[in-house]
Amino acid sequence: MATAATFDVTDPATGDVVGAAADAGPEVASAAVAAAHRAFGGWADRTAQDRAEVIRRISAELLAALDHIADVIVSEQGKPRAQALFEVRYATQWLDWFAEEGRRSYGEVIPTHIPGKRLVVQQKPLGVAVAITPWNFPVAMIARKLAPAMAAGCTIVVKPAEQTPLSAVALFEAIDRAGVPAGVCNLVTSSDPEPLAAPLLEDPRVRKITFTGSTDVGKLLVRASATNLARVSLELGGQAPFIVFDDADLDAAVEGVLMSKFQVNGQSCLCANRIFVQEAVADDFTGRLSRAASKLRVGPGDEDGVDVGPLIDAAGFDKVSAHVMDAVDRGATVETGGGRVGSHPGGYFFKPTVLSGCTDEMLCAREETFGPVAPVLTFRTEAEVVDRANDTRYGLAAYVYTRDLGRAMRTSEKLEFGMVGVNDPMPASPTAPFGGFKESGLGREGGHDGLEAFLEKKLVSFVS
Ligand code: NAD
Repeated sequence: MATAATFDVTDPATGDVVGAAADAGPEVASAAVAAAHRAFGGWADRTAQDRAEVIRRISAELLAALDHIADVIVSEQGKPRAQALFEVRYATQWLDWFAEEGRRSYGEVIPTHIPGKRLVVQQKPLGVAVAITPWNFPVAMIARKLAPAMAAGCTIVVKPAEQTPLSAVALFEAIDRAGVPAGVCNLVTSSDPEPLAAPLLEDPRVRKITFTGSTDVGKLLVRASATNLARVSLELGGQAPFIVFDDADLDAAVEGVLMSKFQVNGQSCLCANRIFVQEAVADDFTGRLSRAASKLRVGPGDEDGVDVGPLIDAAGFDKVSAHVMDAVDRGATVETGGGRVGSHPGGYFFKPTVLSGCTDEMLCAREETFGPVAPVLTFRTEAEVVDRANDTRYGLAAYVYTRDLGRAMRTSEKLEFGMVGVNDPMPASPTAPFGGFKESGLGREGGHDGLEAFLEKKLVSFVS
């Protein structure tokens, strides 16, 4: 079912309208669930190998349209083109991995406790899955859910973020060209998610809800899922500590912060939010980081040589500004950056910022800033920094830079986070469990766990 209404999509670098997307209401959302439900039996009955071939075709179509899809991402998300190209390739890695992993959804035969009985455990697809996704990786976050759902034998309805529906449309054009059977993958774009919540989340035909976004909305979805006890996976916010010990390779640590903090302009759930630096190297490290951050080129993502694009919208810009002002009011020093940059009045450009003298009470150390602000906090001992790093309701990613193996092992074991990068600013991979402790989420995407999230075990007991 299509809808005639549309809404405008804007470029965060200029404020210009770059396109329009269908503005679906509750009836369209229900029709999408119905289509996914009709397609489920046929898709689930296919062999895993057959499904793998279809998923691989999507991956190939994405690569064939790489330049076009990257352009669409740049136009509505704002990230530099190189990062948009990386994102599309990253999306194909998720598709390729799950195409293969779907073929390994083994069951079990359990030794019998009664003569003549045979206990067989089968893996069954859950049914219709609903995926609600954010704007920061508008193609990859969909691929990360769609690939395991399809591989498991589920059908899916995707509701992308209102800021970035055109990237989702470009992905779904690739899905159409790949010849995916009708109803297996369904897209519902909308300017307002709230009216779609009930038809997508409370329909008894929906057996799985998979969400990436903010912790507050994640909690709303958990409540909605209780209506029919749909299974839920949540990838939520983070407040990542980035710990630099005095024995660390400081060049590598600075490079690590640049990658972790300023990619996607700090608008990533994994990005370093609190840079804890051991006192003896704090001044040296802060100086190096500030010099490196001040050299980053800020501008529209489609300009050559740009490292950092605009923030996504006015609300994002205001939040970042408020975090910097709060830190300065409480005694932090702006080493570089600190405010708006660029001449385009419609663009949400914020200068890469390094703050020194930060403390645990500041907003930037307690809440996700989701912007290019690197607050440096100092610490004395290993025990102290682990306690302070863990003092948050979030638990997604943490980073430790040290050349001492014992220290690396001790701290990585004690940090209460789902992913720890030791001298590694990019711990995520389609092949490994991705997800958070505490209020950073429920369940895991990636690796075998990512497939299990769309499967349910069935016990069949045979007597002969
Ligand atoms: P958001 O929670 O505002 O929106 C995410 C999605 O939820 C969007 O599609 C939005 O339309 C939808 N949504 C919002 N309100 C809704 C409602 N009432 N009912 C149904 N759907 C609703 O988050 P955002 O601002 O788009 O993304 C940023 C957040 O996402 C950050 O907190 C970030 O850390 C998190 N994130 C987490 C991961 C991860 O893997 N853990 C990855 C990327 C982003």
